[in-house]
Amino acid sequence: MKKHNYSAGPSILPQEVFEKASKAVLNFNDSGLSILEISHRSKDFVAVMDEARSLALELLGLQGKGYQALFLQGGASTAFLMAPYNLMKENGKAAYLDSGTWATAAIKEAKYFGETVIVGSSKEENYNHIPKGYEIPSDADYFHCTSNNTIFGTQMKEFPATNIPVVCDMSSDIFSRDLDFSKFDLIYAGAQKNMGPAGTTLVVIKEEILEKNGRTIPSMLDYAKHIKAESMYNTPPVFAVYVSLLTLQWIKGKGGIAAVEKLNDAKADLLYAEIDRNPLFKGAAAVEDRSKMNVTFLLNNADHTATFDALWKEAGISGLPGHRSVGGYRASIYNAMPIESVQVLVDVMKALETKI
Ligand SMILES: *Cc1c(COP(=O)(O)O)cnc(C)c1O
Repeated sequence: MKKHNYSAGPSILPQEVFEKASKAVLNFNDSGLSILEISHRSKDFVAVMDEARSLALELLGLQGKGYQALFLQGGASTAFLMAPYNLMKENGKAAYLDSGTWATAAIKEAKYFGETVIVGSSKEENYNHIPKGYEIPSDADYFHCTSNNTIFGTQMKEFPATNIPVVCDMSSDIFSRDLDFSKFDLIYAGAQKNMGPAGTTLVVIKEEILEKNGRTIPSMLDYAKHIKAESMYNTPPVFAVYVSLLTLQWIKGKGGIAAVEKLNDAKADLLYAEIDRNPLFKGAAAVEDRSKMNVTFLLNNADHTATFDALWKEAGISGLPGHRSVGGYRASIYNAMPIESVQVLVDVMKALETKI
């Protein structure tokens, strides 16, 4: 039986994507070849890469606005260092919002390149909210933020207005909600949270911000070189890009990001309503910053852990335990999670009331 997969990443993808991907492993486009054995320079794969790049921009509303989309390797963790390498001037500085573990990891990498200014941090409260009321120095080379904090279950609802380039790690909420994406100059997202399998990172970049910053950048870390090579500077992760394309096509088929957002809102509302109603549970994140992708919650009484764990496992739920830095539970309800699966979890939470 297919499980209800609440894993934070790699994570659930639409069932129809799994089916199409598995067919392509055996026979891609009726070519008599597997997607895994064709040349990345073949006409069929170049078409996959081109469509994935243009569909990503189309869904984000960035087509024809001076942006390029790339499918690179090295995960979001490599983007942590590529952003400063490409955007921070020699002896320059960058502004960072410290909203969680991934933001901290991005800051650590930026420090190898220059000065980092932490404009706000919620570290003291174990990142249970998004820092607010901060000021961004106008002489920084860019401002970096994390739109959704996968581990802590917080999500930025507003983004600051600033005249410097805005860089955003959207790994765990890309394509989940409608934003004015033209406010961002560099967006990156590891595919394995909400877009595809592990192995590729979507990078969306406003080309004009890639003016020379005075650094000599090694080729594989140079965004301009990847753009020039149309995301084929070296062998791309063929299968990960293909599965990402299938997911983007699925989003388009649903009616685009705005339509998917409505479904995501309904799922998040259903689950948070139960967390707030059920006296056995409490939410881990500040209410106003609650993530619609990663819902973190705790049992009020840890003595109920074994009973609750047995109940959700019995219901076919997988991947629910929280990250060790928060404890409790984390329900990752990415785009592909059906509301029926969320209802199964809600029913289990209700059932716990009758079992104790
Ligand atoms: C998972 C995650 C990362 C790390 O991604 P990798 O692709 O494993 O490097 C970075 N940022 C956020 C917000 C994440 O959720």
